[in-house]
Amino acid sequence: MQGKLFIISGCSGVGKGTLLKMFLEKNPDIKLSISATTRKPRNNEIDGINYFFTSKEDFEEAIKNNEFLEYAQFSENFYGTKRNFVEKTLNNGNDLILEIEVQGAKQVKEKMPDAVTIFIMPPNVQTLEIRLRGRHTEDEETIQKRLNEAKREIEAGSKFDYKVINDELEIALSNLQKIIDTERNKNVNR
Ligand code: 5GP
Repeated sequence: MQGKLFIISGCSGVGKGTLLKMFLEKNPDIKLSISATTRKPRNNEIDGINYFFTSKEDFEEAIKNNEFLEYAQFSENFYGTKRNFVEKTLNNGNDLILEIEVQGAKQVKEKMPDAVTIFIMPPNVQTLEIRLRGRHTEDEETIQKRLNEAKREIEAGSKFDYKVINDELEIALSNLQKIIDTERNKNVNR
C-alpha cells in the first residue's frame, strides 16, 4: 500500500521546526523530506540533515531536468522537493512529511490531491514578530520580509485541510498527533 503524504506549512517563526522535531521523535516511523535550497546555512545547520545546500546554478539545472516535485522562491532564495525521494518513499509504503511553504504546498496538492495539508498558525502576528526576533538568526531587513510573507501565508493557510494553532506547544503537538493519526487510520481502513 502507498504511504500517506502530509504537507506541513506555517510562516517563519511560528515554531513549526520545534513542533515537527518533537512530533518526529514521537513518530519515528514517519519520514521527513530534506529539501534543496540556495539559502546559506545558518550556524547550527548541517548539509544533508537540515537541507541540501545547493548553488543557484545546480538548482536551476535540477529545475531544467524536471527533478523537483515542487519548488518555490521564498525571501530571495529557492527551495525545492526532489520528486524521486517522495515517490520512492511513498511507493515503499512509508508515510512522509514535507515541511514547505504555501506556494509549494499548493503545487503538490494539485498534483497529488490525496496529500493532507496542515497549516501551523501563530496565535497572532505580534507573537510571530516576537518569536522571529527572539531567535536572533535574521537581520532586520530579513525579519521585515519574513513578516510580510507571513501575512500572505496566513491568508493562503485558510485553504489547507487542517489548521493547528501553535500557542501552547504541548497542545499544538497533541492536535497535530490527532490529525495525523486520524488520516493514517483512514488509510488502514480503506
Ligand atoms: P527557512 O529559510 O526558514 O529554513 O525556510 C523558509 C521557508 O521555506 C519555510 O516556510 C519552509 O517551510 C520553506 N521550505 C523549506 N523547504 C522547502 C521546499 O522544499 N519547498 C518549498 N516550497 N518550501 C520549502
